[in-house]
Amino acid sequence: MTRSVRICLLPGDGIGPEITREAVKVLRAIGERRGVEFDFREALLGGVAIDETGSPLPPKTLAEAHAADAVLLAAIGGPKWDTTDPAKPRPEQGLLGIRKELGLYANLRPVRIFAPLVGASSLKPEALEGVDMLIVRELTGGLYFGARGREADALGAATGGGAGRRAYDTLDYREYEIERIARTAFEAARGRRSKVHSVDKANVLESSRLWREVVHEVARDYADVELIDQLVDNTAMQLVRRPAQFDVIVTENMFGDILSDEASMLTGSLGMLASASLGDGTALYEPSHGSAPDIAGLGVANPLAMLLSVEMMLRHSLGMQEASDALSDAIARTLDDGYRTRDIADENTDAALLVGTVEMGDLVVARL
Ligand code: NAD
Repeated sequence: MTRSVRICLLPGDGIGPEITREAVKVLRAIGERRGVEFDFREALLGGVAIDETGSPLPPKTLAEAHAADAVLLAAIGGPKWDTTDPAKPRPEQGLLGIRKELGLYANLRPVRIFAPLVGASSLKPEALEGVDMLIVRELTGGLYFGARGREADALGAATGGGAGRRAYDTLDYREYEIERIARTAFEAARGRRSKVHSVDKANVLESSRLWREVVHEVARDYADVELIDQLVDNTAMQLVRRPAQFDVIVTENMFGDILSDEASMLTGSLGMLASASLGDGTALYEPSHGSAPDIAGLGVANPLAMLLSVEMMLRHSLGMQEASDALSDAIARTLDDGYRTRDIADENTDAALLVGTVEMGDLVVARL
């Protein structure tokens, strides 16, 4: 009997639709080989949703997401919708909103080095040896969701200290938010090298001192996992100095946002980084890169981060471990065979092996 799996597709903006087509192509090929029928339901998110409905996260999209077995999101945003006017809708609100509405509190970003791409990194190959880490970022708390505002700065204006405007954001964490993300990290570490770096700024921030306390309380249930506290500024440095020391890194929302982008550069391309956002219900999978408006529509976008997100989806949400391994292997072999999109090519790349988005998808399918 054919099993049916419902996937909510959110192609979004920029290169989003192009890389989504490759994900669909690959999933159809996997489904044919394994007797699984993928029921794709496309919905609007981000800039395209603002254009069509006025909202970056229309209610229909949310309903589709809730009803699906998993959500596959490409990317949202672009200069067309950039605005600093707080009254205007912004694409990012769609992304933050769907994460919040689905209760996705854990963002998992694996950073691994594909041997043939070592040259694409700006670090020396010897610094990259053994790099295989998982960044677990808290997604629903911290500065991005805390109280914020603007007000007239009576004091500043009165003392001649500025134009008289003031803005503030609040870094706010609750115990349960820290506890559940810590558990996600410790559980993940058990399936890996059993080491967790908990990253904070406990020498300055009160929210970080609570973070550290709670992480240590949770650690008592995971005596088999080594826990190391590290200050965020030190982590930023260690990631480029000795990245192989890390197995699992767990950190709050904004630190995780910044550190995961830094870690992504170890691989040499944002086009190679997948992510999973997990909560208690439907999970969401998306590449770590943005909508790359500079190359949208040119057919040159690297679809591999999207396909690696599909790989995570097969594993974490659909229970299709074998298919996930087969996809991972097909991607690795495509790279071993020398094929590159522009962003991961270097001076040694054979011009005949330089391919576009669609060809890269075809090459992976052929190796499934
Ligand atoms: P970006 O990731 O879109 O692009 C950064 C650089 O990497 C660009 O030069 C781009 O061409 C390149 N790049 C990214 N993905 C690529 C791929 N798959 N293949 C080849 N090259 C790729 O980041 P940005 O330029 O800072 O942001 C562009 C837009 O994307 C902004 O509107 C931003 O808000 C949005 N954004 C969205 C997400 C998301 O959807 N999760 C994340 C980050 C940024």
